[in-house]
Amino acid sequence: MIANKLIADIHCIEPIPCNPCETSCPFGAITIGSDITNLPVVHEDLCRGCGICLAVCPGLAIRLLQMDNGNNRAIVAFPYEYHPLPQKGDLVTVVNMEGLPLGQGTVTRLQKPIKNDPTQLVFVEVDPSIAQEVRSMERLKDNDLEEELIICRCEEVTRKEILNAIQKGDHSLDAVKRRTRAGMGLCQGKSCSKLVSRMICEQTNITPDQLAPASKRQPVNPISLKTMASTSDKPLFRDLDALARELDNEVK
Ligand code: SF4
Ligand code: SF4
Repeated sequence: MIANKLIADIHCIEPIPCNPCETSCPFGAITIGSDITNLPVVHEDLCRGCGICLAVCPGLAIRLLQMDNGNNRAIVAFPYEYHPLPQKGDLVTVVNMEGLPLGQGTVTRLQKPIKNDPTQLVFVEVDPSIAQEVRSMERLKDNDLEEELIICRCEEVTRKEILNAIQKGDHSLDAVKRRTRAGMGLCQGKSCSKLVSRMICEQTNITPDQLAPASKRQPVNPISLKTMASTSDKPLFRDLDALARELDNEVK
């Protein structure tokens, strides 16, 4: 690889029918060929490091790499599709293909290679000894966004509401449920109870095995009155018309 030039570096390993990298390169620097399942090949002499192929690749399989920027440092650029974005000069933790941290890098610039496309490329200066492995960076935290995360989707209960409940002494799933309604919705806590349990354990000294499960009440899933009446040996409501009349009368 040419060391002192920013060049597309592709890690596309699956022979799948995909070729936007080839068709989007304005300089004809990527070839896939007539069989669309071929793996792409970069022609380093033609690549200008514009970054367009990085933004169009659906698999985030392309980065830009310059092993030597003239100051004994390497430059790696990768697509970053999260918020908040880092700023020029920020120190960030760069990660490998598995998302494991490799070390620190300095953000040198941000670039949108395609007008009206939201994908940003982050250029990071790193030590050459880790440059070959760098694929991305650890995601930056947005505290406001984190607090507004919905934990219980059925009842739209946020992380902030659950944290408030735990801080007020609700140290069980039932206690959190009573204050916030988390777990009272249609799915009856199937989605959120694990998240709420983890939050309680993180915020208190309670271990997961000490945490009592939430109380369950029949029916576990929403079912129609007709099903209840027809499947039980001792149906709750033998005469649905009579029940409907009874409910009507109560409403009146
Ligand atoms: S970085 Fe630009 S010039 Fe290089 S292969 Fe990608 S699209 Fe083509
Ligand atoms: S666009 Fe990305 S995933 Fe598709 S062939 Fe090119 S490098 Fe591979």
